[in-house]
Amino acid sequence: MPNPLGTPERPLRVAIVGSGPSGFYAAESLLTGALIVKVDMLDRLPAPYGLVRYGVAPDHPKIKNVIKVYEKAASHERFSFIGNVHVGKDISVENLKKYYDAIIFACGAETDKKLGISGEDLPGSHTATEFVAWYNGHPDHRHKKFDLSSEIAVIIGQGNVSMDVGRILCKTVDELKETDIAQHALETLSESKIKTVYLIGRRGPVQAAFTPVEIREFGELKDCDPVVDPKDLELSPASQKELDDPQNNSRKKNFETLQKLSTLQRSKSRKIVIQFYKSPVEITGSGKVEKIILEKNELTGEADNQKAIGTGKKETLSCGLVFRSVGYSGKPVAGVPFDEKKGLIPNQKGRVMQDQQVLKGLYAVGWIKRGANGVIGTNKPDSEETVKSLLEDIGQLEPCSEPSTENVFNFLKSKGVRVVGFNDWKKIDTAEIERGKLVGKPREKFTSVEDMLKAIG
Ligand code: NAP
Repeated sequence: MPNPLGTPERPLRVAIVGSGPSGFYAAESLLTGALIVKVDMLDRLPAPYGLVRYGVAPDHPKIKNVIKVYEKAASHERFSFIGNVHVGKDISVENLKKYYDAIIFACGAETDKKLGISGEDLPGSHTATEFVAWYNGHPDHRHKKFDLSSEIAVIIGQGNVSMDVGRILCKTVDELKETDIAQHALETLSESKIKTVYLIGRRGPVQAAFTPVEIREFGELKDCDPVVDPKDLELSPASQKELDDPQNNSRKKNFETLQKLSTLQRSKSRKIVIQFYKSPVEITGSGKVEKIILEKNELTGEADNQKAIGTGKKETLSCGLVFRSVGYSGKPVAGVPFDEKKGLIPNQKGRVMQDQQVLKGLYAVGWIKRGANGVIGTNKPDSEETVKSLLEDIGQLEPCSEPSTENVFNFLKSKGVRVVGFNDWKKIDTAEIERGKLVGKPREKFTSVEDMLKAIG
C-alpha cells in the first residue's frame, strides 16, 4: 500500500509555474498548512517575483516590501526555486507531471489587450506592457526603443497602469534617479522632449479605473501640472448615483481629487491632461504616429452598468507617441487549455477545466486564473482558494511516478539548461544592490539573463 500524499513519508509534490505574487501566496499557503508539501517554483527568468520586480513602478518602492513575505516562503526547507527554466520549452507540462502530483499555473498576464483600431501598430504606438517592462529592466524588453522626441504623448485607458506610465513620463530625472528604474530608461527619459501627456478615458470620472493614491500623485509632481476640465466633472443622475454609493469610497476620493486638480494654477513646464468620455477610433501618420482621432462618448445604461457609446463627434489630436493601456491579457502555456477571449486558463475555483471537465492535477492562480485585475494583495485570497481546491482533491490526484526534485534538476541538466536556485538568485540580488550603491539607487538591475548568470559566477 503506497504512503498517502501529504505525509512525511510521501510529501505532496506541487510545481508552481511562475514566481510572481500569486505563485508565492500559493506556496505560502501550501507550506503553512497541515499537510507535508514539497513546493518547487519554476520561472523562466533567473530572478523571482514577477510583477513585483518587473511591473510595480520604480517610484513606488513601498509596494515592493512585500518581497519580504515571499522571501520567508522561499526560506522554507520544503521550497525550491527552479529559475531560468521555461515551462513549455525547457520542460513540457506533460513531463512535469512525471515529477509532481499537481501543477499550479501562476504565469500572470504577459501581454496587452488590443484596441482593434486602424494604426494601432504604427511605429510610435506602443503597449503599456512594453514600456513598463522596459523601464523596469525586463530582459525581454531592454532593447525596445521609445522615441520621446515629440512634444505630445497620448495614453489610452485610465487604469493604474496608465497612471504609472503617465507619471514616469512626467517626472523629472531628479524624481526618478534614486529609484530602481533601469539605467537605459533613465537616460532616454533624461532627453525626453515631451511637454504634454494626455490620459484618455472612455467613460467618466466616476467610472475611472485608477485608485485614489495614484490620481492624487499627479498633484504632487515637481515639474508637471495636472489639467482637468471642470466640465468633465458635471455628472448625469446615473453617475451621481454611483458617486453617492456609500459602499464605494474610492470613487468619492477620486472625484474629490479631480475637483481639486481642476482648480490648480498652472506654472510648470509639463502638463498631464486627464480627459474623459473619449475613445480612440484611429491612429494615423505616414510611417509613424502623427495623429490620433478620438470620438466623444456618452454614457448609457443604469448606474453601475454604464457603457460608453460614441456620439459621432470626432476630434484630432496631433501627437508623436501613443501608449495603449487598456488592460493585460494572459498567454497560453503549451499543453494547457486557454480561453483566448478572456486571456486566461479556464478554471473553476482554480481547478483547470476543459470542455466542462476538471483536468486532474492542474490548477491556476492569479491573473491567469481570474484575469488582470486587483492589486497585489488580491492574490492572497485568490491563491488560497486554489490551494483549498487542490487539497480537497488530494484523494483523487494521480501520484507522480518520479517524486524527486533531484530528478528534475538532472533532466534539465541533461537538456543543457542552467538552473538558477534561490541561493544563486540571492547572489544576483546582492550584486544588483551593490551596483545600485555606486549610483545612489536601491539596486541597479541586470537587464539580461546572461549578466544575471555571470553574477552567480
Ligand atoms: P484596468 O484597471 O482594467 O484599466 C483598464 C483601462 O482601460 C480602463 O480605464 C478601461 O476603461 C480602459 N479600456 C479598456 N478597454 C478599452 C477600450 N477598448 N478603449 C478605451 N479604453 C479601454 O487595467 P490596468 O491599468 O492594466 O491594471 C491592471 C490591474 O493592475 C488593475 O487591477 C490595477 O489596479 C492593477 N495595478 C495596480 C497598481 C497599483 O496598485 N499602484 C499599479 C498598476 C496596476 P473602462 O473602465 O471603461 O473599461
